[in-house]
Amino acid sequence: MMCRRTMVAPLCAASALTYALLAAGSLDASPQAGNAASPDGSRTRARVERLASEAFGGREAGSDGERLAAAFIADELARIGARPLPGRRDMFVPFEFTAGSRDGKTAIVITSASGPAAGRRFDNQQVDALSFSESAKDISGPAVFAGYGIVVPESQTFGYDSYAGLDVKDKIVVLLRYFPEDADPAAKAILVRYSDLRYKAQAARQRGARGVVVITGPRSPNAGRTVPLGSDTAAAGSAISAVSVTGDVANLLFTGTRSLDEVQKELDSGNPHVAGFALPLTISLTTDVILEKGTARNVVAYLPATPSASGVAKPWVVVGAHYDHLGRGTHGNSLAGGNEVGRAHPGADDNASGTAAVLGIADALAKQPRRRNVVLALWSAEEIGLVGSAKFIAQPPVPVPDIAAYLNYDMVGRMQDNKLTIQATGTSPAWASLLERANVAAGFDVVLQEDPYQPTDVASFNLAGVPSLSFTTGAHVDYHKPSDTADKIAYDDLDRIAALGATIVERLLAQDQPPAFVKVEQSSQTAGRTGIRVFTGTIPDYASTAKGLLLSGVIGGGPAEQAGLTKGDVLIEIAGQSITNIYDYTYALELLKVGTPVKVVYMRGSERRETMMTPGARR
Ligand SMILES: [Zn+2]
Repeated sequence: MMCRRTMVAPLCAASALTYALLAAGSLDASPQAGNAASPDGSRTRARVERLASEAFGGREAGSDGERLAAAFIADELARIGARPLPGRRDMFVPFEFTAGSRDGKTAIVITSASGPAAGRRFDNQQVDALSFSESAKDISGPAVFAGYGIVVPESQTFGYDSYAGLDVKDKIVVLLRYFPEDADPAAKAILVRYSDLRYKAQAARQRGARGVVVITGPRSPNAGRTVPLGSDTAAAGSAISAVSVTGDVANLLFTGTRSLDEVQKELDSGNPHVAGFALPLTISLTTDVILEKGTARNVVAYLPATPSASGVAKPWVVVGAHYDHLGRGTHGNSLAGGNEVGRAHPGADDNASGTAAVLGIADALAKQPRRRNVVLALWSAEEIGLVGSAKFIAQPPVPVPDIAAYLNYDMVGRMQDNKLTIQATGTSPAWASLLERANVAAGFDVVLQEDPYQPTDVASFNLAGVPSLSFTTGAHVDYHKPSDTADKIAYDDLDRIAALGATIVERLLAQDQPPAFVKVEQSSQTAGRTGIRVFTGTIPDYASTAKGLLLSGVIGGGPAEQAGLTKGDVLIEIAGQSITNIYDYTYALELLKVGTPVKVVYMRGSERRETMMTPGARR
């Protein structure tokens, strides 16, 4: 499952669930590949153990481990009886992707000033290009400080324009990261929406600025630090040179004026009339962003219809899962802490389990008559932005309108209390009854979620108009950590999930009418949000439909645990903001301040309780 900044942000910030391990570990120390079921009868165990083994090194997209895993999967598919797609020699579909960005020779020079700042040049240690920056040489101009650099559109009823009365044409804009720290919650709620750095850079460029220098103010989280270059490079460049600098450089930029601390304090009130001002110096920027390209491979095969699908409406069904994971966690999204840092992330649940489920479904379908063709697709580069499935949709090997349905498996190995979450059910009116009938024999406690805008490959198919389902058993303490190991997988349940999948696909293959597609409107609440800065140590239960935010756990030693919160509590109010769902919660988190205690109201059973919680800082 991909870790994204929007809806799963609390999950990405968190993780830790204190429950007993569900499955005893295998004593077989040498997991073997192969179609044969394990001694305990599980079909999925050997495959998960192999995919999660050290040999595959965490299966990072574009890595040797990913290629080995792809070869293993292709062997398994061939053994099952699947074939390369029509017109293809093998099952590998390579594609190029942007693995991340790193800083090259970015530098800032203070070209004219009086005093200690004059002629100072800074590079790697003290300045970093922003990942969306243009690469350019010697972009220079007079420096202007534009406060937080926030422009709230006029359509909002709240007026705030950091550029009011400020001329930044052909100048270098210096601005603060984040948003006014002390604004009242209602104002903050608006300001936070326009505080994304990409948005700020765009606002500066539209006003004619030649470059942007971002500083993380002394009163903000991550004070004095540069902004790390992320793997978030999917979107195009911003057409402006933009860097972030350390606190030392920032202080130099303010020599001859008031101190940065004083300036920020004044802005932090959120008063829209606090203006920026010219800085008494000229800046020259050189920005150098190096995009790292990689080649990853989807593994795609199919089980042809028997005897042929001619004359059948929408003759293809696709069943998929991503097989890539985080490697050693060096490219972001890892939640490894302490001595786990740098170790291989086996991804047994994420997503060897889903890969094994797809292979298990293929096992079952291979032995049956099929009125439609079944594509078996194992995606790569999911963890860095659903790239593999998006490439499939962009260059589909079969016409997308001919695809009757897509079934996705992502993290299906950690079943608890027989609970299986099925997402994207809003994509077709056919799903509810089909699932109900298919589940009669399986007997899962199914939680249906209509929303197809999930941080997993189902999103790619939904956007292409394909009726889709995505199966998951949810997040857990080992999510995106080296401790997501094969001994913790609930293999019996994973086998059952594969069996249910086979039943669903059998029904799809047999019925004359393919499911109709319905477009689910994307709630504005799931649309883009800026980064959450605080850490609370809560683990939301994403499958819950209860009013409020049900906690599936808290992180040991984290702010939530220290506040006395525990698994099963339902948060209904934080810092005066009422919480009815995960989106409210995400929204409320944006308004919290690191180190400032807030009141939390929650239900424990039928009892309403209150506590104080002090958020910490996220990295
Ligand atoms: Zn993941």
